[in-house]
Amino acid sequence: MRLGHRPTRDKRITTHVCLVARSFGASAVHIAGVRDDSLQASIKKVSDTWGGPFSIDFLPNPIRFVKDWKSKGGQIAHLTMYGTRLKDAIQRIGSDGDLLVVVGGEKVPPFYYIAADINVAVGSQPHSEVAALALFLDRITCGEWENMAFTDAKLRIVPTERGKTVEQLRFKKKDI
Ligand code: SAM
Repeated sequence: MRLGHRPTRDKRITTHVCLVARSFGASAVHIAGVRDDSLQASIKKVSDTWGGPFSIDFLPNPIRFVKDWKSKGGQIAHLTMYGTRLKDAIQRIGSDGDLLVVVGGEKVPPFYYIAADINVAVGSQPHSEVAALALFLDRITCGEWENMAFTDAKLRIVPTERGKTVEQLRFKKKDI
């Protein structure tokens, strides 16, 4: 969950939050803030090309969303430099059920600190929601994101020491 998106100022950072979430194992990003159709379109294009499943949506009522998440038994980890140390937090997060990872923008309302099952500090220095999310997802998946399969991809990169090798897996209808 990405808080406080403003299309004029945050487009690039929120896009990066979505790209990192998708690459490192999240199935969706729920965005609180101003609706931004172009952001949604650009992430959809990435998922259509490189595979999924992955979705993004804009929340009309983020507080209601968090309350519903909790009432359905989902866990919530809020990333903030003020929280519990990452290595201690990871031990405390259960592996059952869905996990909502909350990253903030400029100022995070107290509600999210209180609603979270755990406030997690990825180091106790200010840096970025993108870096915090990447490190958190790496630790919570125990690095398993590296073996993750992306379904229905059109393109797949074949890791090579030099140069670029890209396999075409599916053709667009108009190419056939
Ligand atoms: N004062 C903020 C805080 O509470 O972490 C830093 C604001 S930063 C511009 C925006 C977001 O980046 C925060 O809401 C948080 O999700 C994430 N962030 C920045 N530094 C972090 C850190 N050391 N640990 C965890 N999250 C961090």
